[in-house]
Amino acid sequence: MASTKAKGVCRNSFAPDIQPDVNFSASGGRGSGTLGCATVAPPLVSGWLPSECDSFRALYIHVPFCKRRCLYCDFATEAVDPLSPAIGRYVEDMVLSIRRASREGLLGHVETVYLGGGTPTFVGQKALAEILYTLSLSLFLTDQVECTIEANPDSLTLPLVRDLWALGANRISVGVQSFDDAELALLGRVHDADAACRAVELAHDRFSNVSVDLMCGIPGQTLATFERSLRTAIDLGVSHVSVYPLTIEEGTPFDRMVDAGELSDVDADFQADCMELASEVLSDAGMERYEVASYAKPGFACRHNKAYWTGVSYLGLGPSAVSMAQSAHERVRVQDGEVVERLDAAQMLAEDLMLGMRMTCGIGPDLLESARIVFPEFEAAVQVLVDKALARWEGVRFVSTKQGWLCGNELYGTLLDLAP
Ligand code: SF4
Repeated sequence: MASTKAKGVCRNSFAPDIQPDVNFSASGGRGSGTLGCATVAPPLVSGWLPSECDSFRALYIHVPFCKRRCLYCDFATEAVDPLSPAIGRYVEDMVLSIRRASREGLLGHVETVYLGGGTPTFVGQKALAEILYTLSLSLFLTDQVECTIEANPDSLTLPLVRDLWALGANRISVGVQSFDDAELALLGRVHDADAACRAVELAHDRFSNVSVDLMCGIPGQTLATFERSLRTAIDLGVSHVSVYPLTIEEGTPFDRMVDAGELSDVDADFQADCMELASEVLSDAGMERYEVASYAKPGFACRHNKAYWTGVSYLGLGPSAVSMAQSAHERVRVQDGEVVERLDAAQMLAEDLMLGMRMTCGIGPDLLESARIVFPEFEAAVQVLVDKALARWEGVRFVSTKQGWLCGNELYGTLLDLAP
């Protein structure tokens, strides 16, 4: 079959990546790509901070190991043996990184913590306990701090669930992707649908805040199988669902399979239909869509993810994790000790406008006021978006329409172009 691979199409704009060079996942400042080694880079957490910068309010910890690489994955992770000494070295380095960040006074205002990967639960109870224990000594994991652990159904056990809870975690995000065995096999996931259901049930043994990720646009998936996955998640009583479309990332096995004609490319129209279906089914089940790809029962929106979309400074620890620090004058993103992006005040504002439009609540009066002052062409840009039905006014707030989310590239691009 001839390759029909087409990237960056208008409709495929739900994916959480928001910058061309750095992959900011919805669940953290994790980077993408392969790892040179699986140890934590020297924790250069202070040399690049702008002067008079905001305090970090979110902390992302990257765990770069998995049992096996899924065929679509380009996250910074590697498949290792569960007994690999690399895991021990990683934990040792991470403990040092957390302590050093604490000593440098970087954790004093952290309100959300997210352990993502990779597969945090793959490294096992002892390793996770060591990291969480260090965290609890360094920043006080009280109920007020949202602390999420990403889990793979294959490696979540009841003792681990109880340990995580006892050590201060209060949210589990289960990487389910689908409750359909054929779809899971095609993705190269290590678990089946039964294991996914069991993992959610195990998580509920202690946690009331349980999220699942679901993917749409999987080759062979139909609206009926996608709806079954949505309804299974609802029936399992989860409090949060993230729905995201499959993307074919460069260098992945899926990329090669599409090029070789062995796998059909993503169908952007089908993905858009799935996103629409998710909106209907999850809303009917009492979940609010608070971001283009995120749904939550009242009170269960992910505070960590909201931090990314509201321009809050975050610290990323672990290989390839991205940190963002900012002052009134600049915003800096750093990965493995290297500055990968520097924005001036106008570019920061344009980015905040763009991020705001990912959220259902859109852009509020304060940000709008700043935009009018800084960008003489802002009103004209707003009018273009309204005329194209990509955005609309909701009282004093400027929000995206469903069409705007479907054509996110155009919507977000118009706002980012205010400060190229
Ligand atoms: S479990 Fe997640 S991080 Fe690991 S290979 Fe699969 S998609 Fe990538």
